[in-house]
Amino acid sequence: MPDYDAIIIGAGQAGPSLALRLAGAGMKVAIVERELVGGTCVNTGCTPTKTLVASAYAAHLARHAGDYGVSIGGEVEIDMKRVAARKDAIVANSRDGLRKALETTPNCTLLTGHARLLSPREVEAGPARLKAERIFLNVGGRASVPALPGLDQVDYLTNTSMLALDTLPRHLVIIGGSYIGLEFGQMYRRFGSTVTIVETGARLIQHEDEDVSAAIHDILAREGVDIRLGATCIGVAKRGDAIGVQVDCASGAPEIEASHLLLAMGRRPNTDDLGLDAAGVARDAKGYVSVDDELRSNVPGIWALGDCNGKGAFTHTAYNDFEIVAANLLDKEARRVSDRVTAYALYVDPPLGRAGLTEAQARKTRRNVLVGQRPMTRVARAIEKGESQGFMKIVVDGDTKEILGASILGPGGDEVVHCVLDLIYAKAPYTVLQRAVHIHPTVAELVPTILGELQAAR
Ligand SMILES: Cc1cc2nc3c(=O)[nH]c(=O)nc-3n(C[C@H](O)[C@H](O)[C@H](O)COP(=O)(O)OP(=O)(O)OC[C@H]3O[C@@H](n4cnc5c(N)ncnc54)[C@H](O)[C@@H]3O)c2cc1C
Repeated sequence: MPDYDAIIIGAGQAGPSLALRLAGAGMKVAIVERELVGGTCVNTGCTPTKTLVASAYAAHLARHAGDYGVSIGGEVEIDMKRVAARKDAIVANSRDGLRKALETTPNCTLLTGHARLLSPREVEAGPARLKAERIFLNVGGRASVPALPGLDQVDYLTNTSMLALDTLPRHLVIIGGSYIGLEFGQMYRRFGSTVTIVETGARLIQHEDEDVSAAIHDILAREGVDIRLGATCIGVAKRGDAIGVQVDCASGAPEIEASHLLLAMGRRPNTDDLGLDAAGVARDAKGYVSVDDELRSNVPGIWALGDCNGKGAFTHTAYNDFEIVAANLLDKEARRVSDRVTAYALYVDPPLGRAGLTEAQARKTRRNVLVGQRPMTRVARAIEKGESQGFMKIVVDGDTKEILGASILGPGGDEVVHCVLDLIYAKAPYTVLQRAVHIHPTVAELVPTILGELQAAR
């Protein structure tokens, strides 16, 4: 049985960086991947979706070219095969670069196959059996497919199969009104599909503040995305070549006829066929590997990084998990998950950038919460770009002057939010940012301004 210093299961967003770092430190490392190097983000998540979002943005801008005094001289046509080819080329380039790095780094062996723990120190990797003193789980997650009535009788798509499409759905029905559903919804509407988003809750992206949900609802509805909220009793049925989606909504017809059905109803960790029990590794009720603040499982010598530990659901959180483990193991530097500030973006257009607490979460803390906000209709850069939908909001503690959080929905919101995020990391008072002189004309130049217009939260 080959002996390694470290075995990494899964080559997603934490595993490869860790493999390269450990190998560089002189350890003999095996990394096992059952499918595609790069995992979800590179192959069926961030990279392909953001590439498609860019194509959809080009289509949208072309349709509105007249607003800018630009004549296209005919109908805007979308060539879905070329859209898909562009996406595939960008994905392949990213995946191949990572694979090559793993294959050519001394001390690092990339193995292909499904891996399972056989004991706290042994791993089965396809036909091979390996052992190591340290095992790192980076197995990620997959789309969860709830047992909806009738689902066994119809064809449905998940984010993975959706990204293999190179044709335009006539009517795409998406079940799930959160991040993945909204990105696909706007994108396919812009490509030309009829799109209906069906959401069980009373509003879209329910983790966000109500005003953020409402603004995004409005942006999508204006583009012709049909949104059906309060769908408490969803079922599906075969209707000839089509799919009948039954919804019990507050308003609208009880059944929608879809040509394609996308399930965007959350994710679940890939821990069900990993041999966790054979090694005695504990997981929580949802299947996430239980870890401490340094990402150690209950079994000494076994760590879990990325989406499979339930501490984050993003590429940057998976990568930060790598940084935490590497810092603790190799640099003797105490880095912890609890040092991480919540941050993410929703890539509808305009994008939503989020950092720290929402206003609702901040108010629950019973601090002296102050809020500064401004609509994009009062931001010069947004007006000049013709993209004045959305608003920005920053939440602070009026007593300690701490910045608690921000929601920036508008052009470049995913970038602008970082000037707030970095101040949170610096633990600097908001007055530092209030007095900063930002570049004109930018969306970020209004951040200091709104910090000078703070008001008590409602
Ligand atoms: C549609 C979509 C869009 C997204 N967009 C964004 C975005 O814009 N920004 C962002 O930050 N995040 C985004 N995410 C989330 C992001 O993709 C994940 O958070 C990230 O990929 C998690 O990385 P990971 O390393 O934990 O797992 P993964 O990337 O899922 O990698 C896990 C790897 O482990 C392999 N594996 C699993 N089990 C085994 C086994 N038993 N043996 C061997 N190999 C195994 C898998 O094949 C996979 O390659 C998106 C996700 C989706 C679905």
